[in-house]
Amino acid sequence: MKHLVVGSMGVNCYIVYNENACVVIDPGDDYPKIEDAISEIGKPLEAILLTHAHFDHVGALKELKNAHPEVPVLLGEGDEEHFSDPVKVYKKILWKIPENLYLAADRLVKDGEMIDVKGMAFTVMHTPGHTAGSVCYLYEDAVFSGDTLFRGTCGRSDFYSSDPAQMKVSLARLMALEGDRRVFPGHQAATTLDRERKYNPFVGR
Ligand SMILES: [Zn+2]
Repeated sequence: MKHLVVGSMGVNCYIVYNENACVVIDPGDDYPKIEDAISEIGKPLEAILLTHAHFDHVGALKELKNAHPEVPVLLGEGDEEHFSDPVKVYKKILWKIPENLYLAADRLVKDGEMIDVKGMAFTVMHTPGHTAGSVCYLYEDAVFSGDTLFRGTCGRSDFYSSDPAQMKVSLARLMALEGDRRVFPGHQAATTLDRERKYNPFVGR
């Protein structure tokens, strides 16, 4: 896996790959940097997975999709409005609505769905709270947790379609996953489920 920090909000973009293909998770910004990383890996891009549709996680999506028009963009069901009606979604928090948003997902994914990308198996876990359509992707021993779970904290739940009560349930579901897993969040450092079970004050006991 390759990890890039992109854009002014410091979004973690991850590129997961095997011998057949690569998958980009959250192309937040810096399209040339992401494209360079894909070239270095040398495997065809086969899917773009979004943990949610916030502008800081999709800033390079339009360019990436233009360069790879056949590659599907997957988004959790419930975040469609972020693309279709950004004025409504962002008017309370942004002076200027970002213009570079990609305007549709190719496939809306649901809780429990399995996504097979040329031998890479991702399981979708719907984790609403930060946004209504936030999802985590389980892959091997990793969780790509978007803005739901961070090292020592959790994502904000005061945005459009946020829900603090759902955030609590989503965090509890993550903590209830079996065993330990590496956690790769949408911002800041990686962590593990065990570390968060022990130290994160937002996940309950
Ligand atoms: Zn977010």
